[in-house]
Amino acid sequence: MRLAEPRIVASVAPMPESTPVNTADSGLEIRTHFVRGRNALVARADFGDLFVDYYLHLSDQKLQIAPEHDAMFKRALAAFALHSASRPWKEMTAWTINFQQPLLNIFLTGDNETGAITGRVFSEDVRELSENVFYSDIVRPGQPRRRSVVNFSGNDPFVAVETLYQQSEQRPARLFQLGEEDFALVTEHPDCDVAWFQSLTAEAVAELDRTETMSLLERRVYRWHCGCNQDRIMEVLAPAMRQDPQALFENDERIEVRCPRCAARYTITREAMEAFVSKNP
Ligand SMILES: [Zn+2]
Repeated sequence: MRLAEPRIVASVAPMPESTPVNTADSGLEIRTHFVRGRNALVARADFGDLFVDYYLHLSDQKLQIAPEHDAMFKRALAAFALHSASRPWKEMTAWTINFQQPLLNIFLTGDNETGAITGRVFSEDVRELSENVFYSDIVRPGQPRRRSVVNFSGNDPFVAVETLYQQSEQRPARLFQLGEEDFALVTEHPDCDVAWFQSLTAEAVAELDRTETMSLLERRVYRWHCGCNQDRIMEVLAPAMRQDPQALFENDERIEVRCPRCAARYTITREAMEAFVSKNP
């Protein structure tokens, strides 16, 4: 079947039709601590379970990702979850991280209120630009969307995120890989001990429990969850269908569409789509 991917901009917010997150899943717990005397925040977790859920999703959806892209996605996913856990509760975030070498977009989105996190890689039709570019969108209830855009170098998502903090958040942050799937984000708070912060190594961060006075701030649970379903995908396709059904379906009775947020596969028939737009003019 033809894969039709009309130019859909991945959306930050799940729509009202989204399938809710299943809170019976144990999920990933991220703990945040405040380092007293140093004035820094540490978010840390072992991402094994979240990575398993991500791989189950890839296998359910028969998605194949190049090993290099997969490794980058997992680092970006860990950074995204740690960042989310360091942010206010009532906030939705979406990141689009564009790499030029390899040519790749990584998309991530999460809702701090529900703890749902999802994302995907785009490796086809990625725009060639003179520099890597990182778009960060934040939505808070009752406020307009806030977008930050920064350029960064190289192919490491950690460098991308550290650059975002430096340039857009105006406060430095550092990401560390402490074990195979154990990651931490350390962010400066006002009156941070900057020399200490800058001297941190992965070994030192792994030992913070023993070497510093840490106060537990929060435990938050995150789950791999998009919430997409057939109705939501039809809603995403509706503008293209209203504008030009022929361009969408060509001469096919059905097309395959990927969720713009998580790449899940959907088969949409022309008949179902016609019925959908006549019900929702
Ligand atoms: Zn989805």
